[in-house]
Amino acid sequence: MGVMIVGVGPAEGYLTDRAKEIISRADVVFGSRRALKLAEPYIKGKRVEMTRFDKNEVEKIAKMGVEMRVVVLSTGDPMVSGLGSLVDGRVEPGISSVQLALARLKVDLCEVVVVDAHARESYDEIIKAARFRKKVLILADKRFNLEKLKGLEELEGMDIKRIVVLNNLGMENEEVGDSIKSDLAVIYLEMDVTDENAEGSQQR
Ligand code: SAH
Repeated sequence: MGVMIVGVGPAEGYLTDRAKEIISRADVVFGSRRALKLAEPYIKGKRVEMTRFDKNEVEKIAKMGVEMRVVVLSTGDPMVSGLGSLVDGRVEPGISSVQLALARLKVDLCEVVVVDAHARESYDEIIKAARFRKKVLILADKRFNLEKLKGLEELEGMDIKRIVVLNNLGMENEEVGDSIKSDLAVIYLEMDVTDENAEGSQQR
């Protein structure tokens, strides 16, 4: 009995042994199409595809959890802009796209601020994060306006040192470059301070 929210990783091959076991013991498995596909080989119970996630779904899951072992799949890690904070139940962590991106970049998580720009406006947050840490990791999709990011006027006093777009991490068509190619994209933004430590020098 009970509900578990289980991370399935950002692509094929990232499921942990623990996640596999929990999934295989579930009577019912909820998940998006992508999440169900990643967990497919381990699902033995009933599968329920969620096309969108709302209050109704939350209530349905809670009710089912009273009598059955219910698993709710969340791509990547459930606590990275995932279902972990939306559904009642224990969380089983997964590898996040954030971790994969940082591994590719060889940048430490403790040096960046992560901003969720997937399906929402977030430029104000990105500016604040850039001021605070100079290194920002942005969860984005195709709707994200990269040109707007490059032209942000509010970033006065700082210059963009580096922008890297990591598309389809962990997949066959993974692509690290300078443009958004997919709804699965993480953007890395690194700033240079241009006037704070200038010490009389006009150079950058
Ligand atoms: N819980 C997920 C994130 C969900 S939000 C995790 O931990 O990874 C969805 C966003 O995650 C996407 O818009 C994209 O920015 C990012 N994402 C998820 N999987 C990805 C992948 N394989 N490659 C690149 N970005 C990915």
